[in-house]
Amino acid sequence: ADIAAKLDAVIRRVPNFPKPGVLFYDITSILADPESFRLVIDAMDQRYQKDDFDAVAAIEARGFVFAAPFAVHRGLPLILIRKAGKLPGETISQKISLEYGEDELHVHLTDVPENGRVLLVDDLIATGGTLSGAASLIRKAGGEVSDLFGVVGLPFLNYSDKLQDLEITTLVDYL
Ligand code: 5GP
Repeated sequence: ADIAAKLDAVIRRVPNFPKPGVLFYDITSILADPESFRLVIDAMDQRYQKDDFDAVAAIEARGFVFAAPFAVHRGLPLILIRKAGKLPGETISQKISLEYGEDELHVHLTDVPENGRVLLVDDLIATGGTLSGAASLIRKAGGEVSDLFGVVGLPFLNYSDKLQDLEITTLVDYL
């Protein structure tokens, strides 16, 4: 609760971004404040202290930022999940349905450990569409997804409907 209040105090709200009527929660203000950034990474470390993952997978682009220090700290492989056309090696892909239209996520096939336990990381969980697609992608590549992490959660968008059977952790929720 203390962590949530501290993060709430630094997260910038940007009305009407990226389009009219949307309230955007901007996490760059966390990154610009070293104490807050450290708070997030320490909270991840604490939360997953007893979990024994084989890899951390991060979603482009803001997921990278939080997943990377955690992965280094824990000595875990970091897997990048990217939009189409960005990864140079052999990839497998998964279509994801967003609020408006579709997108495609890719991962390097050789990066995903066979039957390995993967923690999926993004900055914010809204409808859960992105993380749900990312979880399918990791499974397609032969991995196992057990846990999902977002710094921010928007539970009023009912992300848990799309993310059934997965353990979801957020540090601050907006209603
Ligand atoms: P979802 O797929 O859960 O509906 O949307 C989550 C994805 O959209 C995440 O990759 C996240 O980065 C991005 N996103 C949606 N709304 C926001 C927002 O208000 N703030 C930030 N930082 N990202 C958002």
